[in-house]
Amino acid sequence: MQQELKAFKDPALARGLIESIQALAPESATLMEVCGTHTVAIARNGIRGLMPEGVHLASGPGCPVCVTSNHDIDKVIALARVPEVAIATFGDMTRVPGSTSSLLAEQAAGRSVEIVYSPLDALRLAQENPDRQIVFVGVGFETTTPLVAMAIKRARAMDLANFTVYGAHKNMPGALEVIINDPSLKLDALILPGHVSTIIGAEPYRFLAEKYGIPGVITGFEPVDVLQGIAMIMRQLHEGRADIEIAYARGVMPEGNPVALAAIDEVFETCAATWRGLGEIPGSGYRIRDEFAEFDAMRRFQPDVEEVREHKGCRCGDVLRGIMAPSECPLFRKVCTPENPVGPCMVSSEGSCAAYYRYY
Ligand code: SF4
Repeated sequence: MQQELKAFKDPALARGLIESIQALAPESATLMEVCGTHTVAIARNGIRGLMPEGVHLASGPGCPVCVTSNHDIDKVIALARVPEVAIATFGDMTRVPGSTSSLLAEQAAGRSVEIVYSPLDALRLAQENPDRQIVFVGVGFETTTPLVAMAIKRARAMDLANFTVYGAHKNMPGALEVIINDPSLKLDALILPGHVSTIIGAEPYRFLAEKYGIPGVITGFEPVDVLQGIAMIMRQLHEGRADIEIAYARGVMPEGNPVALAAIDEVFETCAATWRGLGEIPGSGYRIRDEFAEFDAMRRFQPDVEEVREHKGCRCGDVLRGIMAPSECPLFRKVCTPENPVGPCMVSSEGSCAAYYRYY
């Protein structure tokens, strides 16, 4: 273990946590992490290999780019083909294949696609280019949704007529309920996301413990944070308890961030959303409220969208449900690589397939 411990900033602390996990672990248990940053931290620091025999760490639908459906990507591509539109998006999204194209391919074909690092960058782009219609692609969970809500509010305050959003935002709790009810995977506990929980707090996960008896621990992103979260889960399993606990107290308040939640609620309302691998989940998406309809790119431009086609052979759906490890996909490494990705789980830096490719 000495070698593996070198990956940790504080090897003594890590050793103590690993010993506690080993002492408390049941004979068998499957834990799922549902945050792309946790997926990468677990892979990069060899945490899977530090678990006792019988403890299995599965990756879930925590990568926002990965869970974005082909239909959503196709709609963004349709928007990119509107002559006056320039798409503003995070870099990862440009490489995600839709049914027959990608934003990168559209850019190569002469459409306007700009990489931005925040919705406020897109807002700036709109201010600086009054003759172009800037469409920001809003993907992500509650960590990014408040920023997009604030950008829309600011665009209204500035009377900006050339800024709209394609909204594919999602919330996590509904997806977790689908996963827990999936008969192909028996989950014993959840490692809950730190970033999302800084916004939503602990309350929205309470049903996991109360309705399903599944323990959950919200934890941070340092390797020792992840180990601490797992150790707290093991203690709950050992004591036969199911609670939602916070290991990431330096970042997460039980009630979340009321200002960010109010911004989401002012601009968005929940709606059904289609997740890659999980299908349509009621209440798991956000759409722009009618009061802000002029900032909704689909309502403004109403482009024709091609019929959805799934990627042949790609098993991203099964990977996102945690029922298949990326290395079990027949295309992994042979056909599908970060340079030539077949599915989004290989494109995104937070995708499970990309993490497995890099670290296993
Ligand atoms: Fe899809 Fe590639 Fe992952 Fe297979 S390895 S599930 S083809 S992204």
